[in-house]
Amino acid sequence: MMLTIAHLYPKLLNCCDNGNIITLQRRCEWRNIDVQIDEINIGDKIEKHDMYFISGGQDLQQIDAFNEIQRYKDFLTKEKGRGAVFLGICGGYQLLGNYYQIFDGEKLEGIGLLDAYTIASNKRFTGNVTIKTEYITPNELVGFENHGGLTYLSGDTMPLGYAVVGNGNNGEDKTEGARHKNVFGTYMQGPFLPKNPHFTDYLIELVIGEKLPPIQDDTEWNAHNDLIYKQY
Ligand code: GLN
Repeated sequence: MMLTIAHLYPKLLNCCDNGNIITLQRRCEWRNIDVQIDEINIGDKIEKHDMYFISGGQDLQQIDAFNEIQRYKDFLTKEKGRGAVFLGICGGYQLLGNYYQIFDGEKLEGIGLLDAYTIASNKRFTGNVTIKTEYITPNELVGFENHGGLTYLSGDTMPLGYAVVGNGNNGEDKTEGARHKNVFGTYMQGPFLPKNPHFTDYLIELVIGEKLPPIQDDTEWNAHNDLIYKQY
């Protein structure tokens, strides 16, 4: 079995999120699933993949990524329609939404795979996050947020979960991240998947359509349990 992952614009959006790709790869390989990772940078054609990963970055780099990805908006919308899995983190999450209004700047059009929009604010949310989600068991996800954009969900796009610790999407409604079909976004940046092995497996299972066998992953669960409900 082979799982293909497109890593979109890693030269622009690379906010310490590489461990997420490595985690996807390792957890597949430990189950004898081969993984092919294709880095797609500006000018490269985006072709059909099982999974699309897009990371966070600074506003300046986001401008180029938002502009470039417009060329593939229709293609990626079709990919979503056939069930491909998307994971966007921070700036990548904002790009999966309808638009990102930069502070004192232009309004960047996203690709609208999530019915969400983001407005830059003059504050910054940083710190530990624990959310409760209904998608998996155990139902907590942990991470670290670092964003100035405030994101609001609409339509039938649901939050990834509700923040029990941390600010989440906007600091007002307790929602964190977003999900619509197999498209996921979150503000939990850095090593999000390494600290959430059950969510990593959930994404892989969405692609392969079957439950993965358990593996020895005490170290990953220790990292998860160390952060859960931790305020600072
Ligand atoms: N520039 C965006 C924000 O601050 C995204 C930040 C990030 O990717 N960590 O909201």
